Amino acid sequence: METSKNAAHDNPEEVIDTSKMTAGQRAALEMTEAARDAVAERASFAGGLFMGEFGLDQLLPFPEQDRSDRARGDEFVRGLEKFLGERTDPDAIDRDGEIPDDVIAELGRMGAFGIKVAPEYGGLGLSQTNYCRAAMLLGGWCGNLTALISAHQSIGVPQPLILFGTEEQKRKYLPRVAKGEISAFALTEQGVGSDPARMETHAEPSADGTHFILNGEKLWCTNGTKAGMLVVMAKTPPKIIAGRERRQVTAFIVETNWPGVEIVTRCRFMGLKALYNGVVRLHDVRVPRENIILGEGKGLKVALSTLNTGRLTLPAACTGLAKRCLEIVRKWANEREQWGAPIGKHAAIADKVARIAANTFAMEAMTFYTASLVDKDKKADIRLEAAMAKLWGTERAWEIVDATMQIRGGRGYETADSLRARGEEPVPVERMMRDCRINTIFEGSSEIMRLFLAREALDPHLKAGGPVLNSQLSLTERAGAALKAGLFYAKWYPRLWLPRLGLGGAAVLDPKLARHLRWAERASRRLARRLFHAMARFGPKLEREQVLLGRFVDIGTELFALTATCTRANGLMKDSGSRQEQENVLQLADYFCQIARLRVEELFRGVGHNADAAGYHTARMVLEGPVPTLNEGLMSHHAPLHPAHQPTRIAA
Ligand SMILES: Cc1cc2nc3c(=O)[nH]c(=O)nc-3n(C[C@H](O)[C@H](O)[C@H](O)COP(=O)(O)OP(=O)(O)OC[C@H]3O[C@@H](n4cnc5c(N)ncnc54)[C@H](O)[C@@H]3O)c2cc1C
Repeated sequence: METSKNAAHDNPEEVIDTSKMTAGQRAALEMTEAARDAVAERASFAGGLFMGEFGLDQLLPFPEQDRSDRARGDEFVRGLEKFLGERTDPDAIDRDGEIPDDVIAELGRMGAFGIKVAPEYGGLGLSQTNYCRAAMLLGGWCGNLTALISAHQSIGVPQPLILFGTEEQKRKYLPRVAKGEISAFALTEQGVGSDPARMETHAEPSADGTHFILNGEKLWCTNGTKAGMLVVMAKTPPKIIAGRERRQVTAFIVETNWPGVEIVTRCRFMGLKALYNGVVRLHDVRVPRENIILGEGKGLKVALSTLNTGRLTLPAACTGLAKRCLEIVRKWANEREQWGAPIGKHAAIADKVARIAANTFAMEAMTFYTASLVDKDKKADIRLEAAMAKLWGTERAWEIVDATMQIRGGRGYETADSLRARGEEPVPVERMMRDCRINTIFEGSSEIMRLFLAREALDPHLKAGGPVLNSQLSLTERAGAALKAGLFYAKWYPRLWLPRLGLGGAAVLDPKLARHLRWAERASRRLARRLFHAMARFGPKLEREQVLLGRFVDIGTELFALTATCTRANGLMKDSGSRQEQENVLQLADYFCQIARLRVEELFRGVGHNADAAGYHTARMVLEGPVPTLNEGLMSHHAPLHPAHQPTRIAA
């Protein structure tokens, strides 16, 4: 599909007008643009949606895990389940803020730290789908154990080495991590959250060129206080590319027992109380050149590629959490009687139960579809699908845990220990809610996921039309670009109005599901048209219309969720035994499609009629000047930081 071509640009200014940006904005853009994958040709289902291409054949038939791969994962997943159930207590882990050493050691022995590492390097060599199954099991059980295992192998040393490591690096480090030596990923700094251009940690080559000398401080490094090795992102000397100086970020493997590595403090949070998360200080750390991953200056590509697959663990874990919530509400909504009936029979509660179930089904479908792409090709371009699964899965999971708390009423808000002390079942919704909140913030916050998806959605238009409006290019260049853009749009745009004759594969679907998919196909053409109209209206300024772009991204994401739901339901209906089971799956998928369609219609309405500009002005007013009434009744000053609150150092 030509429309989804996606090559990196050495010079992003060719397609994006950076002339009116601040230096900070330009730096951020240049870095992220330079790190975009150079994928010459791809046909991503999600990418196609924004161009009016509905590639249903990519999801139909739904790529369910094949039996032999499932059987390979079963032994590990069952062993993990038995171990978790018999030997771990998530409430105690939460209460103590510690994971017992013997639990970590046993997880290491069973291979939980090397699930995807190939057997030749001492790992289990399981597929991405089996890894997601393990993440789902963990996610429904204990957030702290999920984070320990996931930060280690989704973003820690194993994943970038599996993707980009040299044979020497793999032989040196993978057997260690597979045996249980913990690893971590260190990108964030005091001034660097979502914007790596502000990175201060830097690495200079030694005089003889054999080493890099690393200096800086990394914040919130999950597993940092337990890790034997870290992936550290650092600035390296800039390079001149296409006549301009470009900042460079490089990824290094750093062992924590090397001189100069210090774990300054352990950070504590609202949830994930047993997260081994710390501030890591690096002072003149000598890192051998062989420990660079992928190459000097390729650090952001390493980070972004690692996160593409890595962040898939989150929707998998969220699916587990959502299933656990469903288990809790099914029991409680049947058991608890108020006003003469089980609360599940009151429509307001029934509505929440139905939404939890339907959204959980869709979340699983998106996650396993995306995992199947990785299993077909480890280096598959899953950027859009993984980002959508992360964005949608973590936001729905938060809603689900919130609805679960509401359904449990006061008992939802009560801690498991307190419930136990009163002789009631210690249902840990309060803990689950605390642990769940971070998911929309880390590994790409929701706002950044929307920006990232919007950038990818706009890419074909930026390539076709961007140079025309780019004031940095010469008039001749812009005229040439206008001709090319005219030819492209003259062919592409009319197609968006033409009804399609059918959906091909949809013919084999249940009629209800086929109807939803036909609607989705039409909605994808409408999405492409509306996006194009917005491009025409705002020109290059569209990139700044974050709320509007967010609606386009959310529409595309809902369409992906709907399609994955229908095709997975179709597959399950063919495989399920009883007629009743088939009808139940159909009911779930049909209901999901109905609510997703309503959400999409609402989003389309918001594209045309919204209060975005007024909202922006209101925010500027509130941020820039006082509104006395909004300050009234508050404490007039807050206590300064007490000396006792200074960071506590802990031994490396
Ligand atoms: C428990 C925990 C564990 C973590 N583990 C790790 C780890 O292992 N390794 C690691 O490197 N980091 C880790 N982090 C850091 C985490 O990835 C960051 O918190 C995250 O990237 C967001 O950065 P920030 O908190 O500095 O927010 P900021 O980047 O300061 O953003 C603040 C808010 O502004 C929004 N925002 C920022 N830029 C834009 C924009 N351009 N447009 C619109 N909105 C924007 C954000 O979405 C967010 O809502 C962890 C953090 C926590 C809390």
